[in-house]
Amino acid sequence: MILECPQCKTKVKIPDEAIEKKARCPRCKTVFVAEAPVEVDVEVMESELEEPVSCGANLGGTGD
Ligand SMILES: [Zn+2]
Repeated sequence: MILECPQCKTKVKIPDEAIEKKARCPRCKTVFVAEAPVEVDVEVMESELEEPVSCGANLGGTGD
């Protein structure tokens, strides 16, 4: 997983087993907790679902 250092915004590679633990930025040496990024919930109003737009707009499967 790649996280951004909160201090200098350097991309820091975090092993999965280090999530929720402390990581150190190799650039500025800032120690920060490697929190998994929060996925933003996109709330869809039911009324917006009346018009199907899925046909031909397949962005690729994410089910794995
Ligand atoms: Zn940094």
